[in-house]
Amino acid sequence: PPADIQCEVLVLGSGPGGYTAAFRAADLGKKVAMVERYSNIGGVCLNVGCIPSKALLHMSVVLNETKEMGAHGITFAEPQIDIDKIRAFKDGVINKLTGGLSGLAKARKVEVVTGYGKFTSGNTVSVEADDGSIKTIAFEKAIIAAGSRVIKLPFIPHDDPRVMDSTDALALEEIPERLLVIGGGIIGLEMAQVYDSLGSKITVVELGDTIIPGADKDITKPLLKKIKKKYENVFLKSKVTNVEAKPEGLLVTFEGKDCPETDLFDRVLVAVGRAANGKLIDAEKAGVAVNDWGFIEVNERQETNVSNIYAIGDIVGQPMLAHKAVHEGKVAAEVINGMPSAFTPMSIPSVAYTDPEVAWAGKTEEELKAEGIEYEKGAFPWAASGRSLSLGRDEGLTKAMFCAKTHRLLGCGMVGPNAGELIAEAMLAIEMGADMQDIGLTIHPHPTLSETLCFAAEMAEGTITDLM
Ligand code: FAD
Repeated sequence: PPADIQCEVLVLGSGPGGYTAAFRAADLGKKVAMVERYSNIGGVCLNVGCIPSKALLHMSVVLNETKEMGAHGITFAEPQIDIDKIRAFKDGVINKLTGGLSGLAKARKVEVVTGYGKFTSGNTVSVEADDGSIKTIAFEKAIIAAGSRVIKLPFIPHDDPRVMDSTDALALEEIPERLLVIGGGIIGLEMAQVYDSLGSKITVVELGDTIIPGADKDITKPLLKKIKKKYENVFLKSKVTNVEAKPEGLLVTFEGKDCPETDLFDRVLVAVGRAANGKLIDAEKAGVAVNDWGFIEVNERQETNVSNIYAIGDIVGQPMLAHKAVHEGKVAAEVINGMPSAFTPMSIPSVAYTDPEVAWAGKTEEELKAEGIEYEKGAFPWAASGRSLSLGRDEGLTKAMFCAKTHRLLGCGMVGPNAGELIAEAMLAIEMGADMQDIGLTIHPHPTLSETLCFAAEMAEGTITDLM
């Protein structure tokens, strides 16, 4: 039988990768259908990821600041927390963005098909709606943007409502008295911060010897120091081996040097990483190769092993970040349109939107050392930044690593308030091949935190030797 819908480009998944690809393909004149299992488009990022977490983190920073202001002569009354209103604010932000996206889809005549999509051949998918009805779509080209999902652990009773993943934590059902966060990566630490500022007592347990594995230790140190002071416990080199649901709470068994053998928590947040969705879409029926971890391998044109099928975003590999998905989405749509596009960034920046924020771009110092690349470094402590001190903050650091031969910027790490915004300048410098003079001679406004990159470059160059 003929398919219910015929399209030139089918996009499976409506996250930042999917909608970017769909919109770009439509703008280039293609007839596009985008399949999404949920009624809201926008994927993890808009609905249960980047955006709701940032809405809640903003509140946590405001709450933290009102407390810290006491030391500078302004004391506020104890904040009154209304989690229903906080939730409504967060949901309002999501709805504005997803509503805006639906409008953008309509304006481009992108047909949004709601339901769970699976390949039935190299040119067709079937989409099953919640009511069991099925639509078939025939396509010329497909872009797989089906993203990732949370990883569950076998020894944790995930169906107990007191065990949360990041989606549950963002739903903000209640403020538990004692919360255990399993996983000291970006997502775990961001959610830990939200619940800490709302009044929960937090314990973080992390397998590695530091928080945010992947970032250099010197830029995560100020954050570690702060949370060690603020939270009930931060256990490194430790793990949870069992969680038992008891009526009085979740009984957690630990293994590690400093942690207790067992402890009772009101809620547990599991934030140990995400798994790619490659094995859940019948990719084999289209002949698309999926590896053991659910990832689909692609080349720099986002092409899979099947010539008319492309893949983008979390499903093609690390880093699982929205800005990577977006750029890959554009590339896939343009390649389908016959354009000479490729995904060849010099680097993909990472940011933890904690307080202080931790951000890095290009090579980390650890990577430079491991790869035997010779570099010159400038490291500017924010304790010498007038702007940082005037914010009442002195724990920040900006370090910049330059190639010893060409003096070009190879990598940059920052920690401090707004580091996530500031790292964009380092990204531009890396992409443009800027060297230490380019950055050091660029006049940065004073007094700003952005100056710290300029100072770090000047320190690497040797034109600043002394700090005030
Ligand atoms: P996704 O956003 O995962 O979207 C995939 C979509 O496909 C989903 O809507 C899914 O329902 C749909 N789908 C999957 N399979 C099917 C199917 N078979 N049929 C129909 N629909 C299907 N990244 C950042 O860059 N910055 C951040 O601050 C940040 N914060 C985060 C915070 C949290 C709590 C989490 C969980 C993630 C965060 N991320 C962040 C990561 C970011 O959300 C992802 O990298 C990004 O959403 C990936 O985009 P994507 O397009 O690949 O897929």
